[in-house]
Order: sequence, then structure tokens, then C-alpha cells
Amino acid sequence: MTTSIYSGPVFEMARQQFENVADILDIDQFERPRIFMPKRALAVSCPIHRDDGSLTVFQGYRVQHHLTLGPTKGGTRFAPTLDVGEVAALAIWMSWKCALAGLPYGGAKGGVAVDPRALSPRELEALSRRYMQEMIPFVGPHVDVMAPDMGTNETVMAWFMDTYSMYQGRTVAEVVTGKPVATGGTAGRREATGRGVFYLIGLVAERIELPLDGARAIVQGYGNVGAVAAQALAAAGVRIVGVSDHSVAYYDPKGLDIAALDLHVQRTGALIGAADQARFDGRDLLVQPCDILVPAATERVIDAENAGLLQCRILAEGANGPTTPEADAILKLRPEIHVIPDILCNSGGVVVSYFEWVQGLQQFFWDEAEVNAKLNRTLARSFEAVCRRAESRRLSNREAALSIGVERVMQAKRSRGLFP
Ligand code: NAD
Repeated sequence: MTTSIYSGPVFEMARQQFENVADILDIDQFERPRIFMPKRALAVSCPIHRDDGSLTVFQGYRVQHHLTLGPTKGGTRFAPTLDVGEVAALAIWMSWKCALAGLPYGGAKGGVAVDPRALSPRELEALSRRYMQEMIPFVGPHVDVMAPDMGTNETVMAWFMDTYSMYQGRTVAEVVTGKPVATGGTAGRREATGRGVFYLIGLVAERIELPLDGARAIVQGYGNVGAVAAQALAAAGVRIVGVSDHSVAYYDPKGLDIAALDLHVQRTGALIGAADQARFDGRDLLVQPCDILVPAATERVIDAENAGLLQCRILAEGANGPTTPEADAILKLRPEIHVIPDILCNSGGVVVSYFEWVQGLQQFFWDEAEVNAKLNRTLARSFEAVCRRAESRRLSNREAALSIGVERVMQAKRSRGLFP
């Protein structure tokens, strides 16, 4: 495949993973671009008035990967280094993730190149609303459904929903998932991704006979995914020996006080200053001894340099794309590390987003116990399918997960024809 507007390191990583899986599935060369390349993309300029009276224009994007199985679905990322290639790669991974989980969606992703921490609350609201307003012709409850991702949260989703609804002249809650419960969100969505990460770690731990009580974990990223996963692990008796976010990394083999960290992050928005332990190098943290390593921040943090040095038994990918293909090649030679690949490991978020969408369309809401039970059942089914395929075809867990996702999209495209 030739270069495109998406070219860049994250897109290249998604392409390499796809080519590898396409070889495994023996997909013809001529059919590959149709399955892999995004269906469409929108780039927008979002001007906002700053608090000091000046004006700034931010660049925003939305990429829809395929429309073959239903509307597209995917998060919205606010991050300073965001570009359209990263957004496209994340949209493609969402497609394989939704297909693996059996959800009736294609993948999408969007976002704005901005550091949300550098905006005042008023500026963040203005940017969120302007971005959504620019997206109106491109999204909708049966076209493309948005959700939170890095740098966005429930509050931003409420602004998105409100902006879209104002333009329609009625409340359209189903255009966005990950909303506050008070505005039509579902019980359990905010915690769903981290809870899912924890549930899958439990399934693997059972398989490899690792008792969670007393096991040690390191969590990179202390946001929606990382913090919830760390809390759930700690509640199960796991000692959290390391945590990090954009501001600092802490490591203590005796274990960190998760309740105190949570309180500090709630108060200040970051981990820095939360613990007495000495600051640690964020990259070194990943290779410290532990049983469970949870990268829950950003892409490409496990690479050819550190993959051989990891000291964990379970690598639970809470983040999207934390492991490069070069690192994967090294991990393939390290069967003592059980990888829970991103498209399985963090799929709890989109599974409960799907539940939120379904509840919103029907105006019929479930309680949290029901949501969690359905979430666990869906994850257990995907987990079993991945393990079965990995064992029967001698594939890595990532190859197994991706090949199930890609195959389902391919089959749907073959039976529908060229249009979607
Ligand atoms: P978030 O914005 O809530 O938190 C991100 C965290 O990562 C923050 O603590 C931030 O400080 C930290 N971080 C950023 N750069 C870092 C770095 N270089 N080193 C260490 N920490 C760093 O985002 P989130 O929603 O928790 O998303 C985290 C990851 O999980 C992303 O890859 C996202 O795509 C993925 N994910 C999120 C969801 C969801 O439901 N929110 C679902 C599936 C996947």
C-alpha cells in the first residue's frame, strides 16, 4: 500500500499488524486496501475565544474506518501531538475491537490537537462545543457515535450531546456514549474499561495459576482506565508497586497507597506530589519486577528496546497500541509473558458504550449489576475465542485477536459488495 494522508508511525504500526494478519488469513493483495484503508475522514478548524481576549484555531479530525456492519463508533482524543494518522490507526483498531466483541459497529476515532490541561474550563467547553458543531454533518446515532478517550471525559460528552441536540431541536442522547448518568448515560460506563482490564487479568491469572492476592502490579497512566484498573486490582489484594502519569512515576516494592493517590489525583488532577516515595523514571518503571504490567496511557511505549527487559507475567494492554510490532516479535519468543492484546483488554469500554447506545435508543435503562454481568459475559466470550484460536493455529494472542476481528469485517464486506 502506498503512502497517504495518514502516513506516520502509529498508522504504520496498524498497517504492519494488518499485513501480518492478512498473511495469516491468506487475504489476496488486491482485497487488502479495501479492508484496511479508512472509508472517510474529516478535518476541521475550530476557532475559540481565549480568556485573555485572543483567538486560537485548533485542528480537529474524525476518521470513520468502515460502514459495513452498522454505524461507526469511537472515542474522541484531546492531545497536543494528535494527527490524522494517529486518529486513523485508532479508528482501524476500533474496527477490529468491535468485530472481536461481536458489536454491530465499524470503528471510528476523532480528536483535537490540543493539551486540554492548558485550557481553562470555559475554553475547554468552547472548544468541545465547536468541535462537535463542526462534526454535525458527519455523525449521528445511526451514522457515527462518539465516546470519550484520552483527554476527554463525561463532562465533554455532555457538551457534545447538548450541542448536537440543540442543532436538532430535540434531545438526541444516543449520538454520544460515556455521558454522565444524569444526561442519559449508563450505569458503569465510566469504570467499564478499567473493570474489563481487571476482569481479563483475573481470567488469565486463573489460567496461569497466579493468585491475585499478594501479586504485584505496575500501572502506567492514571486516568480513566489506569486508575480504575489499579483500584480494582488493589481491592483484589494486588500490591500496586508502581504507577505513573504524565507528571511523575512512583515505584515502591512494598506497595503504594492507592486510596491516597486517588484522593490526590481527584484534588489536583495529577499524581505529582501524591506520594513520599522518590520520583522514578517513567520508562524504567515498565521494566521493574512485577507480576502484572498495565500500560494504560499512550501508544508505542513497549518497543524493541525494552520488550526483552520486561519482568512481568501478564501484560494487560489497557491503552491502545502500547506495543510496537518489533516488541511483539520479541514477546513471541517470551512465552512466560501472557499478553492480553489491546483490542481485547480494553474492549470493556466499547462494550458498555454499546449497552449505553442500546439503552438510549430504547429509553429503557439497566442497573449497574446487570451492566457488569453482561460486560463480563461478553469479555469472557471474546477471551475464550482468542485463546482457542491462539492455541489451535499456534498464533500469538494479538494475532489471534486481530485475525478474528479482521476476518469478521472481511466476511461482511465480501457478502455486502463494494459499497460500504
Ligand atoms: P485519560 O486521559 O483519562 O488518562 C490518561 C492518563 O495517561 C493520564 O493519567 C495521563 O497523565 C497519563 N499519561 C499521558 N502520557 C503519559 C506518559 N507518557 N507516561 C505515563 N502516563 C501518561 O485517558 P484514558 O481514557 O484513561 O485512556 C488511556 C488509554 O486507554 C488510551 O490509550 C485510550 O485510547 C485507551 N482506552 C480508553 C478507553 C476509555 O473508555 N476511556 C477505552 C479503551 C481504550
